[in-house]
Amino acid sequence: MTDKESKQADDHELGMDRKIDRRDFLNGLAVSALALTTAPAFGADGAPQDLPTYYPPVLNGMRGDNPGSFEVAHALRDGRFWATAKHFEDLNHVYDLVISGAGISGLSAAYFYRQAVPDARILILDNHDDFGGHARRNEFHLRHHLELLNGGTMLIDSPRPYSRVASTLLDELGIKPTALAKACDRPGIYRELKLGGSTFFDAETFGQDKLVPGQGMSWANGGKHVSWSDFLQQAPLSDVVKQDILRIETGTEDYMPGLTSDEKKDRLSRISYRDFLLDIVKANPGVIPFYQARTHGEWGVGIDAEPALDCWAMGLPGFQGLHLKPGAIHRMGNTAAGYEATGGSAKFHFPDGNASIARLLVRALIPAAMPGHTVEDVVTAKAVYDELDRATQAVRIRLSSTVVGARNIGHPDSSQGVEIAYSRMGEVYRVRAKSCILASWNMMIPYICPELPEKQKEALHQLVKVPLVYVSVGLRNWHAFDRLGISGIYSPGSYYSSTFLNMPVDIGSYKSVRSPDEPILIQMVRTPCKPGLPERDQHRAGRYELLATSLETFERNVRNQLGRMLKDGGFNPAEDIMAITVNRWAHGYAYEYNPLFDNFNTPYDQLPNVVGRKRFGRITIANSDSGAAAYTDSAIDQAHRAVQELVTLERL
Ligand SMILES: Cc1cc2nc3c(=O)[nH]c(=O)nc-3n(C[C@H](O)[C@H](O)[C@H](O)COP(=O)(O)OP(=O)(O)OC[C@H]3O[C@@H](n4cnc5c(N)ncnc54)[C@H](O)[C@@H]3O)c2cc1C
Repeated sequence: MTDKESKQADDHELGMDRKIDRRDFLNGLAVSALALTTAPAFGADGAPQDLPTYYPPVLNGMRGDNPGSFEVAHALRDGRFWATAKHFEDLNHVYDLVISGAGISGLSAAYFYRQAVPDARILILDNHDDFGGHARRNEFHLRHHLELLNGGTMLIDSPRPYSRVASTLLDELGIKPTALAKACDRPGIYRELKLGGSTFFDAETFGQDKLVPGQGMSWANGGKHVSWSDFLQQAPLSDVVKQDILRIETGTEDYMPGLTSDEKKDRLSRISYRDFLLDIVKANPGVIPFYQARTHGEWGVGIDAEPALDCWAMGLPGFQGLHLKPGAIHRMGNTAAGYEATGGSAKFHFPDGNASIARLLVRALIPAAMPGHTVEDVVTAKAVYDELDRATQAVRIRLSSTVVGARNIGHPDSSQGVEIAYSRMGEVYRVRAKSCILASWNMMIPYICPELPEKQKEALHQLVKVPLVYVSVGLRNWHAFDRLGISGIYSPGSYYSSTFLNMPVDIGSYKSVRSPDEPILIQMVRTPCKPGLPERDQHRAGRYELLATSLETFERNVRNQLGRMLKDGGFNPAEDIMAITVNRWAHGYAYEYNPLFDNFNTPYDQLPNVVGRKRFGRITIANSDSGAAAYTDSAIDQAHRAVQELVTLERL
């Protein structure tokens, strides 16, 4: 067989030629990604979202930063946009507030502004074809059963307590996380079936494909107890590596004798976990591939770029004998001072993650767009997208609209308003507003607002976002997981470094799967980092990789990896996969300062996010980026700050 024939044969076995839901498909009406952005007028107001059939949560294929959402922004960044912009139409529409970004921060900003100015008219613009930003809903109908998964933001948690502002907002939306946690059945069925964590050792990294249950990632931790020595006995690792992993996991030696807890913590904050294992624990370098991806999901980089102290706080092993005093560790600019211990929950999550928070905010802003009244019924509510942008409403959300310019009218110190330009379906439009909040990605702001002071633009450029991919895969059944006794897989050498069965959560009329015979969603996570480079460079390189990777490659890797990992459970990738949605977040988590690469002695008021978010005339800046914290509470807090800045100014 030629290489081509052999690839075709492999692809056939993997099921690449099977007809599944992987192309963009909109309520029975096939709409190519391009059509969503370049189609001529075909809704009431001339945009796809004005069609009654428009319902992006069910779209499969390449989602997250979907094709059509980023091309305009990249042209603006590269200086190509204005040279080729076709048409500039002044809509002569005047709003009280225009917000760039319909993520949690932009939606919260609209909510807070309406509290301060109840009759305010607000326009929210977002470059994606759905609202919510990272808080994105993936909705599947597998054998006619509604299955939900988070395409991005999942948990209402944070390393610090939710502020009074953020917890009050949740409360006003009806979200009482503690009460909801009691009501939902989590992890339920997986514990009953005794499914636990596992690790997949791949042949390319470890010499042999082998799935070893007992240790690794899982939601349920309800699997059979397997000791580290029993687990390691089955692992394809050399004896010396096994001994060192056992020492790291269960040893009680103090590797830093003679230092106080504070001195140890200080040193651990300045070295990577990789260097801690190699230089302080003196482990054999062969342990590194086993631990390398343990920090991928949390921080988007491997253990080479993550401070050992953060890894201790996250519960990684090796620190047992160091007797470090418990206590929060704070990343720059994120001290807990002034925060109340309220709100948030690491236990409760909505079946579509924090997309439900975005949907509740939309209900509060435009009730007709989100039927229902309770925090439970929002989960199954079908959003009415053609209500989002009606002239009769005080708040309008306009999707597939990239903000390309925001300019104070007059000098920023005496500005009486802002002109905002946005691009939609190949046209450029201009609107005016009393004020503007850029609740969108901060490093893009210098291109939108080139009049900003140079120092502020430089600071904004430093907030390099963290790329990552969450793939939602619909499976016909989950017998293979059940047979292997696993609910999650840690796969440190593979393309996707973790795989989970959808975590059960029952709320309102939404019921999670009850039996391995039923279809289920799983989530596979890829973090495209480049070990060895400084953190920001890893993120930049990862972003280029994601944008250059085709849907076909993501899919082939899903099929190949699931087939290899679940082989002994009888999994057949050609038969068992029903649907694939790739949530590609080239611009994912907000950048959080890292003592390995950032100067921790920088005074608070000189931190890039603090310098970068300074109000400029009637334009101000929100988004979790401006809090340098990749969490929902940060997105809400920064929205509140931005609104207060404007309201104070407007009242002068
Ligand atoms: C995969 C993933 C998982 C996560 N999991 C969690 C979690 O479990 N818990 C948690 O607390 N946080 C999580 N986060 C962090 C998440 O970023 C925040 O919680 C929060 O959702 C951020 O909201 P935001 O509004 O600040 O930003 P975003 O959600 O990024 O929203 C900003 C919006 O602005 C839009 N935009 C950008 N530029 C423009 C422009 N020029 N014109 C118009 N619109 C523009 C963007 O496309 C986006 O829709 C996760 C993030 C990712 C990527």
